[in-house]
Amino acid sequence: MTEKSERAESAERAERTKKVRAGRSAKSTKAAAAGTADGARLAEYRRKRDFTRTAEPSGGARKAAGKLAYVIQKHAASHLHFDLRLELDGVMKSWAVPKGPSLDPSVKRLAMEVEDHPIEYNKFEGTIPQGEYGGGTVMVWDRGSYTYGGSDEVDPVEGLRRGYAKGDFKFELRGKRLHGSWVLVRTRRGDPKRAQWLLIKHRDEAAEPGSDVVEEYQTSVATGRTMDEITAGRRPRSVRSGAKS
Ligand code: MN
Repeated sequence: MTEKSERAESAERAERTKKVRAGRSAKSTKAAAAGTADGARLAEYRRKRDFTRTAEPSGGARKAAGKLAYVIQKHAASHLHFDLRLELDGVMKSWAVPKGPSLDPSVKRLAMEVEDHPIEYNKFEGTIPQGEYGGGTVMVWDRGSYTYGGSDEVDPVEGLRRGYAKGDFKFELRGKRLHGSWVLVRTRRGDPKRAQWLLIKHRDEAAEPGSDVVEEYQTSVATGRTMDEITAGRRPRSVRSGAKS
């Protein structure tokens, strides 16, 4: 290769990099503009992340009204935990549950409230680079929809809003793996900005005293992969919904 063509090639490469960078910042500007309605709600989520480095979504996409989304992601960050997310008013209310959910109604699981996440986050499965916020592997452990779980005759979404505000959030899960009636109860302990709640299964047909559901399901409900396979970037396998292994 002549010196001249080498120089031309490196100029071309620099130009390509510039275009990719410009594309990325245009994307994040667009996301920020789209996010004006929910901008305040997702501000903390966005502040913590560098979307040029992580594949997590920046948020702002609109979703048609309909069922409220539910997801649990298993997240091997500095400490393994399960992120429970429940859609309310255009964002995913989110709790980090160190030990994950339990189907045993006598078990109360600590759930630390974290920043609201964008609804698109529900599809995120992969690896957040080390050194970035939440660095580590994320698995979609369960997903589906949910409804208000209170017995009073209030509008269901209003019931959820009130329950959340009161710290007595009753809901009914319709996931692939988790079902039935649950409650999140806010406790007095902890920083009010990082409220602590307890996640408790109500007694109903979906309750399983003595079971360990987190141990039973070791694969992604979306791609059938184990945590190690997600980390290694293995291809998704076909998933039998709710299959145990
Ligand atoms: Mn997490």
